[in-house]
Amino acid sequence: MGYMKEKVAYLRGLADGMEIGGDAQGKLLLAMIETMDEMAGTIDENEEAIIDLDECIDDICDELSDIDECLDALIDDDDECDCCCDDFDDDFVEVECPHCGETVYFDQDMLESDEELICPNCNKPVIPTVQDDEE
Ligand SMILES: [Zn+2]
Repeated sequence: MGYMKEKVAYLRGLADGMEIGGDAQGKLLLAMIETMDEMAGTIDENEEAIIDLDECIDDICDELSDIDECLDALIDDDDECDCCCDDFDDDFVEVECPHCGETVYFDQDMLESDEELICPNCNKPVIPTVQDDEE
């Protein structure tokens, strides 16, 4: 039970102890407690929702600071951040075309498949040689 609900439950207990009768004032008091009980329920629900949102925002902030770190690393130099730069390296491989000398990029999946790699610059087949100059 939430904090507000507890407070209203206490009021209800007091009202029961006072043996409030069915006269106009008694009805009013009971109706007020009933209304407060509903309000307390809504307030407690909102409080839980805010706590959930707060955790969610924390997660988003963490993600943002990761992205920020990554962007800084990209802007500064070719330094890698811990979070996502590895993924970029894995996805594309830099290959120098033996025919025209143009540097072209191939998807990792394309390299691993048996399909012939075609240089987009001169349209001749390229045999990929992975360059490890970043290490
Ligand atoms: Zn070429």
